[in-house]
Amino acid sequence: MTDADLSKLARQHAETSRLLGVPWVPAYGGDAVAADAETSQPATADSDDPPPVVVTDRGKSVEPPASGEKASRMAELRARYEADAPHDAFVTNFNNIVWGDGSLDAKLMFVGEAPGADEDMQGIPFVGRAGQLLNKMIGAMGLSRETVYIANVLKTRPPNNATPTPDEAAACKPYLLEQISIIAPEVIVTLGKPASQTLLQSSEAMGKLRGRWHELHDEIAGRTIPVMPTYHPAYLLRAYTDENRAMVWSDLQQAMARLGLDAG
Ligand code: URA
Repeated sequence: MTDADLSKLARQHAETSRLLGVPWVPAYGGDAVAADAETSQPATADSDDPPPVVVTDRGKSVEPPASGEKASRMAELRARYEADAPHDAFVTNFNNIVWGDGSLDAKLMFVGEAPGADEDMQGIPFVGRAGQLLNKMIGAMGLSRETVYIANVLKTRPPNNATPTPDEAAACKPYLLEQISIIAPEVIVTLGKPASQTLLQSSEAMGKLRGRWHELHDEIAGRTIPVMPTYHPAYLLRAYTDENRAMVWSDLQQAMARLGLDAG
């Protein structure tokens, strides 16, 4: 690694720490380099360690070639969604269906609410400001956007960016459940109230839902998936307090521990 690479990595780590208020950040995919709490200096890594994953801010992930069966099931599901067009009942105009992004073999899946203007333009979830913060959260977990899967409850931008109504969420939920069944993640993190309430069939407030494990029963595959709700990155950007950042980080740490990642 060149000096320029190292200093870029150090800048990214510092920025992630600043944004999330975390006392340490992982050095490369799936593993973590501990930092001294006093100095914030990373512990030394062996020279033959795997190269660091550079967490980029670019919104668009390069989707790795998908494994065959999952890829064809996902393509079939998307085609069915497009033919059914459940959004026709409530969306007046949109530019792109925002289906999902990441690895079909992901162990960790994030579920958000609905595409915003940036996502609608690019056809990719979480590419705007909230998406940039989500990228940093994923990086702080020692993962990259390419290794997780990201989807929303609604696949099209709601008129005026409104919060999805229960009817809208209910119309789109079956497709999300099928998406989840195809990905078969080990852990789901729901981002914000609409996603959490929709997936967990709950009317509890985020303050009550977050920070503890829930279960989603995947009836198609007959398996149960642990779900950790946390605050939406857009909320975090609006209410960027130490307390909120610490709560989100603690939720993500629980997800990391469940995935067998070093949660610090
Ligand atoms: N907010 C969401 O919930 N999803 C997106 O894709 C973007 C912003």
